[in-house]
Amino acid sequence: MTIDILTIFPEMFDSVLNASILGRARQQGLITVETTDIRPFSASKHKNTDDYPFGGGAGMLMMAQPIADCMRAVCEKRGLTCPSNLNTPKDQRPAGLKRIYLSPRGVPLTQRLAQDLAREEHLILLCGHYEGVDQRVLDQYIDLEISMGDYVLTGGELGAMVLTDCISRLIPGVLGSEESPVDESFSADGLLEYPQYTRPRVFEGLEVPEVLLNGDHAKIAAWRRAQSVAVTAARRPDLLRMAHLTEKEGKEYGLLQE
Ligand code: SAM
Repeated sequence: MTIDILTIFPEMFDSVLNASILGRARQQGLITVETTDIRPFSASKHKNTDDYPFGGGAGMLMMAQPIADCMRAVCEKRGLTCPSNLNTPKDQRPAGLKRIYLSPRGVPLTQRLAQDLAREEHLILLCGHYEGVDQRVLDQYIDLEISMGDYVLTGGELGAMVLTDCISRLIPGVLGSEESPVDESFSADGLLEYPQYTRPRVFEGLEVPEVLLNGDHAKIAAWRRAQSVAVTAARRPDLLRMAHLTEKEGKEYGLLQE
C-alpha cells in the first residue's frame, strides 16, 4: 500500500508519520506514506497556490493548476496513469488507485470505508485549505471525497492523518498480534467495545469485575458480549440497529418483537 499526500503544509506530517505504529510500519516497508508539497508546482512567479473566488465571497480558494500538476507528477513518479475523469469512463480508470479529497462535503469516514480502502494498492490524498479547492480540479482528478465529520477544519491535513492512520493499521503486519484490529469497536459484529481493565485489581476503591479474574473464558466472553451490546445500546443506538445481534439480544433491546 502506498499513500501519497498532497499538501501545502508537508511539515505538519513529520511527527505523525515517524512515530509509533505508523513510523515502525514505514521503517519496515509495510506501507509507504509520502507527502508532496503542492507549492513548487505553481506556475505563478511567486509560487502562489490560492486566489480570490469568482463571484466574490470571503476567503481564498486553492487554484486548480498547481494541484493538477502535482497530482500528475506524483502519478508519474509512481508509474501510474492519472486519468482525467471527464475523459475517462469509470470502468476504464486504473484499478487499485483512488484519488481522495478530504472535504466536509464527502462521505463520512467509517471503519467499513477504511477496510475497503485498505484493499487498494495506491491512495492519493488531497488536502484542501482556505475556503477549499477550485471545483474543476476535483471534477477532473478526484475519485472520492471523504469527510471527517459534520464540522469544519482549517485544512485537510488532519483528516489525511486520521485516514492514513486508520487505514495503515488494517494492513497485514502493521499491528502486532497483541494489537489485533479484529476484536474492537466497529469490527465484524458492528458493536462498540466492552470495558477493559489492567493492574492493579483495585484502583481508588474501584474493583475489576470479578468475572474477569476467574479464568473462565466462556463466562468472560459472555460478559464482554453483554457489555458491548449494553454500551452500544446506551451510546449508539443507531449502530445497535445495524449490529449482528442474537434473537435474545434483539428482544432484550426492543429490536425484535417478543
Ligand atoms: N468552505 C468549505 C466548506 O464550507 O465546505 C470549508 C473549507 S475548510 C476551511 C478548508 C479545507 O479543510 C477543506 O478544503 C478540506 O480539505 C478540509 N476540511 C475541512 N473540514 C473537513 C472535514 N470535516 N472533513 C475533511 N476535510 C475537511
